[in-house]
Amino acid sequence: MANSNQVNEFISAQIAEWPQAAGNFAALNDVKVKDLDVDGMHIKVQFNPARMVSSAAKVDAASLKARKCFLCAENRPDVQRGIEWGDKYIILVNPFPIFPRHLTIPDTSHTDQLIQGRVADMLRLAQELDQYTVFYNGPRCGASAPDHMHFQAGNSDFLTLDENLQGADMQVIAQDGESTLALVDSMPMKVFVIDTDNPETGSKLFERLYAAIPVPEGEKEPMMNILAYSTPVGVRLVVIPRKRHRPSFYGTETDEQMLISPASVDMGGVFITPRPQDFERVNADTIRTIFDELCLSKEEIDEIANNVK
Ligand SMILES: [Zn+2]
Repeated sequence: MANSNQVNEFISAQIAEWPQAAGNFAALNDVKVKDLDVDGMHIKVQFNPARMVSSAAKVDAASLKARKCFLCAENRPDVQRGIEWGDKYIILVNPFPIFPRHLTIPDTSHTDQLIQGRVADMLRLAQELDQYTVFYNGPRCGASAPDHMHFQAGNSDFLTLDENLQGADMQVIAQDGESTLALVDSMPMKVFVIDTDNPETGSKLFERLYAAIPVPEGEKEPMMNILAYSTPVGVRLVVIPRKRHRPSFYGTETDEQMLISPASVDMGGVFITPRPQDFERVNADTIRTIFDELCLSKEEIDEIANNVK
């Protein structure tokens, strides 16, 4: 068990004893943020140079093999402490934060980033850490350690996802008792939403959705970003199916390219730009293009909804 206050105190304690983390958290006070309206969705853009490491991460098999895994206990700095959670996770402070309170929650063993069988864990974490949004980046949807299973979590009030979903039209496509699986296709970003007060039931609804999403050739699971957070009545899981890792304009070599590598935080409403020129250039059209290229179309999402058994 863990709770938000315990984790908040843990983050403060780590910042007090870990200069690198302290410096990066302090730098968040100076990041620039701008607000965009993308067809009614409230999107924030954050200029965060410390995230260069993640946005430019090489996640191909050879690069992964050549580096020491930063989520394995033996490679973590001595100063990085953790809170054990359940029988196989450890809650850590993320030393390269985007959120004012940012956690990484790896499995205690070095095992592939795959979501199957772990959604109940995710929902339980989101229930216990009720001030936090717990999120999962698929191995080719923004995870910078696709070889080591991990969730992340950040203070929920930072993201705009919940605000954007408040006014959205939810079409319930499956139900289990009080728990529902709904399709939201009224925003530029098409998503599925599971509302439940029971992690096991929510997990079963997720498995039905998971089975309906096509797995691209060469992948081990459907491409997805997933976010979970507490609501006044239970916990909400937002599943964002993806069809592409990075936008067509990803890169740094030409003037047309931008260093934006969207993951759950971006899909949750806060797009991260590590370079100042990209921060200046990003506008509503850029975000619309990202949703069009990386997320599914109305037709594609409807087909999945039709295939949910
Ligand atoms: Zn590892």
